[in-house]
Amino acid sequence: MLDRNNFLKDQNTLHQFHPMTHPLISREHRPQIIVDSDGCYVTDIDGNRMVDGLGGLWNVNVGHNRAEVKAAIVKQMDRISYYSSFAGTATAPSIELSARVCQMGATEEVDKVMFSANGSDAVETALKLARQYWKLVGEPMRTKFISLKQGYHGVHFGGLSVNGTPYYRTVYEPLLPGCFQIDTPWTYRNPYSEDPAELTNAVITQLERTIYHEGAGTIAAFIAEPIQGAGGVIVPPADFWPRLRAVCDQHGILLIADEVVTGFGRSGSMFGSRGWGVKPDIMCLAKGITSGYVPLGATTLNKRVASAWYDGFTPEGVIMHGYTSTGHPLACAAALAVLDIVEGEDLPGNAARMGERLMAGLKPLAETCSVVGEVRGKGLMIGLDFVSDKKTRTPIDPGTGIVERIAGYAREKGAIVRPAGSVIILSPPLVIGEAEIDVIIDALTYGCARYD
Ligand code: PLP
Repeated sequence: MLDRNNFLKDQNTLHQFHPMTHPLISREHRPQIIVDSDGCYVTDIDGNRMVDGLGGLWNVNVGHNRAEVKAAIVKQMDRISYYSSFAGTATAPSIELSARVCQMGATEEVDKVMFSANGSDAVETALKLARQYWKLVGEPMRTKFISLKQGYHGVHFGGLSVNGTPYYRTVYEPLLPGCFQIDTPWTYRNPYSEDPAELTNAVITQLERTIYHEGAGTIAAFIAEPIQGAGGVIVPPADFWPRLRAVCDQHGILLIADEVVTGFGRSGSMFGSRGWGVKPDIMCLAKGITSGYVPLGATTLNKRVASAWYDGFTPEGVIMHGYTSTGHPLACAAALAVLDIVEGEDLPGNAARMGERLMAGLKPLAETCSVVGEVRGKGLMIGLDFVSDKKTRTPIDPGTGIVERIAGYAREKGAIVRPAGSVIILSPPLVIGEAEIDVIIDALTYGCARYD
């Protein structure tokens, strides 16, 4: 066993490129290898059992190793593991799941769903179908996209083009022309105002100016996350999304909610946009839809958008988009079992309750720890913002290794947390209970105290 473990440690970075790191760094740091799991816990190759403060990667909402989900996958495997969804062919789980997603999104007026394999695919599908929609309704000039700075929409060329952090984009440029990012309504860091209402006004004014400057008739869609995740857990003022919806309506612009993280309960409501009282035209879903047991992406369309395809046959209406994995029966079977748990155990409600406990336990760190500037979040999306100067709120330089060090101390105390630049991100499984929440609080409190 020891030989095999050493073999795995040696080989991990030898033949695979890991995402979101430099190959030399991952080689040097010998990253964690996770081998076992149960519920909210994972165990690494050295036998350390820790609370999974990341929920995999914002996605293992129902917890690890759930018997119901495994059984659903195996049951489907016993019938058929794969068949294509092209040109109307289907397997049973994709049909059932399409109806289920529409029923769950009924308050968002979800009418149709197109499946894919990842969040990046769900975004790509949304951007392409938005453009196609405008061709179908006779406004082919509407091709541009507006998004928010700090936004993250996956890694495909479309998603990168609307991404709001240069760090992700620069080495892959040139990207799509006609994509514009406006300031994100971030109360902690912005050049306008700390007052939420004034901040919303400033960003909405910027949006209106951009629309005016580009010409409303050239803009296909606005895309944003209801709460920005990878950008550092940025929660907008409560009136931002309703104002955004109103501006999009005024100019006929489609509103795409990238709910890859917020979909299915993470922010305390079934969908993040619902939490703001807003119905988007298109939603991008992935992650929580299967809790990561099998990859799956889904893009939903409301009636307004979907109806464009039903106004008689035209060659422009042919959907020349889709993946080999679209409607994958194992992924859809897993999703059906996961969504039973999400609804049956009221995971959005638990996310709201446990999120409050986690937030209350971590908030004091902004007072007691010299490098924690702010603790923020909604539901079970929480970020600790590390600063080199609390007055100027200058983000700590990730090169100092301080954030990594604090995350390492937290790991020693039994909680995996995610250092991402100058922020530590928390997104534990939505089934988490008070005992595990307290492990995360204690581990981070210890980590910060040990640093100080
Ligand atoms: N959109 C958002 C908001 C995300 O957070 C992510 C991934 O974290 C994606 C899209 C891309 O999803 P995936 O990594 O499954 O392609």
